[in-house]
Amino acid sequence: MAATAHFDNIQKIVHIQARLVFYGSEATPEVARAVMEEINRMYNEPKAKVKVGEETYQVYFVIEYALLTIEETIRLIARNDDYLNNFIRLEKENIVTRSFMGFGLGDNVGHWIVSDQLGQSTTAAHEFGHGMGLDHPARLDYRGSGSPPPIMAPRGTLVDAEYQWDPAAKAGEVGGTMRPTHRRVTVEEIQQIVENITIRPNKSGYLGKLSNITFDEVGRPDSVLA
Ligand SMILES: [Zn+2]
Repeated sequence: MAATAHFDNIQKIVHIQARLVFYGSEATPEVARAVMEEINRMYNEPKAKVKVGEETYQVYFVIEYALLTIEETIRLIARNDDYLNNFIRLEKENIVTRSFMGFGLGDNVGHWIVSDQLGQSTTAAHEFGHGMGLDHPARLDYRGSGSPPPIMAPRGTLVDAEYQWDPAAKAGEVGGTMRPTHRRVTVEEIQQIVENITIRPNKSGYLGKLSNITFDEVGRPDSVLA
């Protein structure tokens, strides 16, 4: 996922902006809106204030979406040099049986499957985090932390009982790992995102990278179109 970043040095505000361009046979207004709302809600929820140099900035995420046909996507992607644009194919299934972003952290292309309950499961917000350059945390055991696990915690993470699939299950056994819907975006994760921003000479910034590759229906890079 790529994004642009604008620093308001008077008001001490950072706006991080991204557009999700959805295409594919499951690219419907319902899914698109749910994904957009989940990402906006989760990343703005901590009302994060972060350090930028010596100053403290408030961070706002402004995520929007567009729905395009495959033909329109191919036309736009061929000349895309805008870090605002991310191209995500939505389908029922793919060859890795999970939603993924393209080639390495920060890529602006992805193939997501609707069986991941996009917009309701925190999967979209987690994938967005990868797009902002965040990796999974090294820590895999959040028991005793007294707060929800971070959005970048992967499946299988150990958590306090209240954040497990089954609060009655023993840690690590069936039902005894993190239920992903309990994840929350943390201020530390947003601090990391802001540190990942590359500042251009004109003082605007960007995140991520542009591989501008389309995927076929099952998630293979589309060599015919690339
Ligand atoms: Zn992940």
